[in-house]
Amino acid sequence: MARISENNLWQATAAETFYADSLTEDLKVDLVIIGGGFTGCSAAIEAQKQGMSVCLLESNNIGHGGSGRNVGLVNAGLWTPPDDVMSILGPEAGEKLNKTLAAGPSEVFKLIEEFDIKCEATCNGTLHCAHSPKGFTDLQNRFAQQEKRQAPVELLSAKEATILTGASGVFGALLDRRAGTVQPLAYAKGLARAAQQLGVKVYENSPAIHTSFKDGVWSVKTARGTVKASYLLNATNAYMQGNIEHYSSSFTPVYYFQFATKPLDDEFLNITLPEKHGCWDTGTVMSSFRLDAAGRLIMGSIGSLEKMGKGVHTSWIKRKLHKLFPQLKGIEFEYSWHGRIAMTDDHLPRLIQIGDSGISMMGYNGRGISPGTCMGTAIAKYFVHGDPSVLPIQPTTSYQQGFNSMKELYYETGASLTHMVKDY
Ligand SMILES: Cc1cc2nc3c(=O)[nH]c(=O)nc-3n(C[C@H](O)[C@H](O)[C@H](O)COP(=O)(O)OP(=O)(O)OC[C@H]3O[C@@H](n4cnc5c(N)ncnc54)[C@H](O)[C@@H]3O)c2cc1C
Repeated sequence: MARISENNLWQATAAETFYADSLTEDLKVDLVIIGGGFTGCSAAIEAQKQGMSVCLLESNNIGHGGSGRNVGLVNAGLWTPPDDVMSILGPEAGEKLNKTLAAGPSEVFKLIEEFDIKCEATCNGTLHCAHSPKGFTDLQNRFAQQEKRQAPVELLSAKEATILTGASGVFGALLDRRAGTVQPLAYAKGLARAAQQLGVKVYENSPAIHTSFKDGVWSVKTARGTVKASYLLNATNAYMQGNIEHYSSSFTPVYYFQFATKPLDDEFLNITLPEKHGCWDTGTVMSSFRLDAAGRLIMGSIGSLEKMGKGVHTSWIKRKLHKLFPQLKGIEFEYSWHGRIAMTDDHLPRLIQIGDSGISMMGYNGRGISPGTCMGTAIAKYFVHGDPSVLPIQPTTSYQQGFNSMKELYYETGASLTHMVKDY
């Protein structure tokens, strides 16, 4: 087997290119956004469209965080089923969030079309695959919850799911026709390009190193410039660097890794995910698989490729490939990378009010393409109109959860042990 490079496939194949200078001057705008992922870029687009002047600061390059590392499943709703969202938030607030996020994929695909973002978008549904008979029972429950909301979902038998995936050991699947896939880094870069074309001042390699709020004005300092603004959005999520004043929040960092093969030959592509659905499964230690536009098979699961479990995860992914797709025996992996997810204790995102005119958004719990796009857009509308009812969730003044390091260790150790003992 060829040496597996520590390379992110999305960086190697993004058709959208985006470069911006770093900030070297003092600026005054209506809205300053810190963080260039889906949340920050979609907020920038909406605020600029609605007449605000906007500056977006990214500490590295656009898509450096979760937005440039994820699986690319553009799913509707959160990972938490809609009835559970209502139990946690209450019926009214829960249904509001459910409804907004149910329309999330169409928001994403609309932006892709509007700005002609070249991000390998497919929108013919995703498959949530049952990894066991118990997993199928979970899917039946999820199906019932979606069906009563008239969502366009179908519960597929093991036979139907096997035909659509080409995988062995799939006990059924939930097909959600609202959903699809993207090349996530290209989507993030395309959003940034669109924002810039609309007039947003985007700066890369410009970490915000200090923020302050005085007399109704935010001041955000970078190494070589300052941005003053009436409104501030902290969209740094799981990748926040440095300290952002007035901002207090916490989450459990959970890692997710992916491996990608070389492009498959046509004989395999005819039977492996023939309709190019993006898939993930019902396993407690979840795993995912999908194809990219060139026909590479991309598989992933929970775990870090930098911590003690690296060898275990690397060995497991090879077993998993051969178990799921015996027809691909001998196919090599050419790319591997991982990313950090911000998990909250109840698996719901948090919108945090900072001062009178600042918002911080975090904690999509591994479901941030549609939610990040919807939340960024909604936050921009909130800043423009000052009406909190446009927000899909109500802001809190802070969010703190305890024992995050212990919980991180729990997730990583759990994933490593599962990958060690499971035959795939
Ligand atoms: C491996 C993985 C797989 C995933 N798979 C999926 C999936 O299939 N579907 C899905 O919907 N979601 C998925 N997610 C979740 C999704 O990727 C995230 O929720 C989403 O990208 C979050 O977007 P964001 O804009 O809020 O944050 P990010 O994309 O993390 O952006 C934050 C940005 O802030 C920048 N930043 C940090 N500090 C500063 C500072 N001081 N100054 C300036 N900039 C700063 C960072 O460099 C970063 O670019 C996955 C996540 C991971 C990690």
